[in-house]
Amino acid sequence: MKTVKILDREFKVSIPAEKIDNAIAEMAEKMNKDLAGKNPMFICILNGSFMFASDLMKLITVENAEITFMRLASYEGMGTTGKVKKLMGFTEDLKDRTVVILEDIIDTGITMENTLAQIEEYKAKEILVATMLFKPDALKRDVKIDYVGIDIPNDFIVGRGLDYDGVGRNLPDVYTVIDK
Ligand code: 5GP
Repeated sequence: MKTVKILDREFKVSIPAEKIDNAIAEMAEKMNKDLAGKNPMFICILNGSFMFASDLMKLITVENAEITFMRLASYEGMGTTGKVKKLMGFTEDLKDRTVVILEDIIDTGITMENTLAQIEEYKAKEILVATMLFKPDALKRDVKIDYVGIDIPNDFIVGRGLDYDGVGRNLPDVYTVIDK
């Protein structure tokens, strides 16, 4: 069993890199059909989604696709409410555009609900949501998710852009904690 020690905890591989690559390739194939002729604007939600966005965009063949970046953070001391503040925005005009939000993981859905509320202000024509990983058993909000890479159990995971206290984002596989 492939394990790794990150800070004070032991993790084991739960999703090998190849399985994630395949899920992203399938998602890209679907998007290439759905978004043809739509001049889509992808929005990568930093930090966690940088690796997903990079892997996905290499496989997007839609003409005139664009990508921009938005950095959000939970309000200090209010992490569980999921209220987010914008640390870094973008200058592109989204009016009447097809927008695709790229998120690393949807857990309770609270962060996505807040992210959507922020992006709705830009008056896009349609907003689609794509997530690399999804915890269906943890979902508490009625968010519409258009593209899901892989459904996962309700455990804390690290790797493939996701961190444990800032560490582990560089790991190509996804790991789950052993000592719960
Ligand atoms: P939600 O608001 O949907 O509960 O959580 C979304 C955010 O929480 C994600 O963007 C991510 O930053 C973080 N998150 C949720 N589950 C995990 C997890 O298992 N591991 C890590 N590293 N972050 C997670």
